[in-house]
Amino acid sequence: MSSVLEVHDLHKAFGGIKAVNGVSFSVNEGEILGIIGPNGCGKSTLFNCILGQLEPTQGAVKLDGRDVTNMRPSALNRLGVSRTFQLLQVFPELSVRENLILAGQEHQGSMLGRLFGARDAGLSEKAEQMIGFFKLGHLTDAKAGGLSYGQQKLLDAAMAFMAGPRLVLLDEPAGGVNLTMLGDLKERLRAINAEQGATFVVIEHNMDFVMSLCTRVIVLAEGRMLAEGTPAEVRANPAVIEAYLGH
Ligand code: ADP
Ligand code: MG
Repeated sequence: MSSVLEVHDLHKAFGGIKAVNGVSFSVNEGEILGIIGPNGCGKSTLFNCILGQLEPTQGAVKLDGRDVTNMRPSALNRLGVSRTFQLLQVFPELSVRENLILAGQEHQGSMLGRLFGARDAGLSEKAEQMIGFFKLGHLTDAKAGGLSYGQQKLLDAAMAFMAGPRLVLLDEPAGGVNLTMLGDLKERLRAINAEQGATFVVIEHNMDFVMSLCTRVIVLAEGRMLAEGTPAEVRANPAVIEAYLGH
């Protein structure tokens, strides 16, 4: 199995705080990798360094074997990599379809204004496909701001997929989502993974969500990797139980 993403000895310090302190891992093509750990352990900072939003203090990031350390987010988008943020990034005044097309345009590096000019047939088609995948058909023309929180999180994930069809990094997709919508989200991420061969890295606080969605899990604690393995291995790891599952 080939690695889509490799992270080598990544460090990020904010003044005296070592938010990420020597993290190395790789993500295989088609995998759903989970990253868990207590609040403040460096998960979002790790994503920000991988995606060029923060400059790592040390270390390297490779995509398909190519060094992409410090590459700008827009350039990574063009290579098929995107993310969702811990806080929602949908445009409340735009419809579900318009939000998706806009995300796709960002991926292609085109201008925001194009949304209201010439429509890109390829993007409209892709948006329809995502609407189908995420079962948002009944909401296609609804303003995103009027959707429930869970529906907005689904839209947010669909937008990331418009922008990053190869590798999508999801920052707490389950945060604040009710149980029914959680099941929907999980099912739809699985479907896209299986049917389109998309690779996902999921940061989560919700253990059950990660353990039931991911094939492999990495546990972070205070900026370092505490454990790595299948969900069953991680659950049974004494260091993990001590540091995380215990409380
Ligand atoms: P997580 O996503 O796991 O909750 P973060 O990556 O957000 O953790 O934060 C890791 C550590 O880095 C925390 O101690 C946090 O306060 C600190 N931190 C994160 N971003 C910044 C920043 N921009 N400036 C200073 N400290 C930061
Ligand atoms: Mg975070």
